[in-house]
Amino acid sequence: MAAAGWVGAISLAILSSSGPELRPIPARFEFRQTHMGSEFKIVLYTTGEAQARLASDAGFARIAALDKALSDYDPESELMRLCDKAGGPPVKASDDLFRCLDQAQAMSVRSDGAFDATIAPVVRLWRRARRTRVLPEAETLAKARALVGYRAMDLDPKARTVRLRKPGMKLDLGGIAKGFACDEAMAALKKAGITCALVAGAGDIVVSDPPPDERGWRIGVADPEGDPDRPTRFLVLKNKAISTSGDAERFVEIGGTRYSHIVDPRTGLGVVARASVTIVASDGTTADALATAAYVLGHERGIALIEKIGASGLYVQAGPKPKTYATRHWADLPGEIPARK
Ligand code: AMP
Ligand code: MG
Repeated sequence: MAAAGWVGAISLAILSSSGPELRPIPARFEFRQTHMGSEFKIVLYTTGEAQARLASDAGFARIAALDKALSDYDPESELMRLCDKAGGPPVKASDDLFRCLDQAQAMSVRSDGAFDATIAPVVRLWRRARRTRVLPEAETLAKARALVGYRAMDLDPKARTVRLRKPGMKLDLGGIAKGFACDEAMAALKKAGITCALVAGAGDIVVSDPPPDERGWRIGVADPEGDPDRPTRFLVLKNKAISTSGDAERFVEIGGTRYSHIVDPRTGLGVVARASVTIVASDGTTADALATAAYVLGHERGIALIEKIGASGLYVQAGPKPKTYATRHWADLPGEIPARK
């Protein structure tokens, strides 16, 4: 099945004659598959098509397995079965689910609850609002909000159990799962012998060693006011992760106000800031969760959190008063400005 997502290798290995002996030059291979409701892409460099296929199959298989465990759309996922037991005793979790929840919980603590995987009951109301274009009713929202709060989720690393203390609590890992999946797919590629790769799932990207003769992977950072297909700047990254969150793609406009699909756990309302946050961090899980958290926190507290965590970030405010806020070391990231045509 994995081969169905294969869209074509550029070429087979070319033999280099520059050295004293002929040595194969790695070729670029690109594969795409849909998982977690998004298109995932794996780009890798290796010398043989067979190895490229095997490795990318292993990467996609990892993402598919995580989708099965972490999905909040599939009622049969491990996550949803765990939610069914909310209010009951601790439930044993798989290593994948436990590690993802543990990382989510760590980001909740660090962001003072701006990132909160227990936000699901409220997110559901906003998903409905996006479909119906009607705001959730105050009473319904209050009931859903009463079920939100990461402190009511107990994780026991020794027993590897999860306990949701309130009946009706639900979890949503949409703000972290793609970054986590990119990290895990990259680990699977490494296990298959691939050290030079890019794994991307929508706005979450993880890269390993640079492509041959390059400083890194060129990743476009789009201008929120400009054409998303024409980035105004490229970062050139190696062994890093980059994630973007914001209101650009999914939102609902009701009564002249634009509410993002990202919800502020303090108010239960879709965040109204017209902004996007881009994070560069050492791993995809951190970059993904931190982008979501910093967007909820706004530019001041968001930038402070990114710096505290030791990542780099850019908070780009769109709308009538566009403004950009960056962490201290953002400008030090290697990059290049694309040539104007
Ligand atoms: P991202 O695109 O990574 O920023 O993730 C957005 C998704 O995260 C939403 O579609 C929700 O599934 C989920 N989400 C919304 N609000 C929050 C929040 N405050 N904390 C954690 N996850 C959230
Ligand atoms: Mg995120």
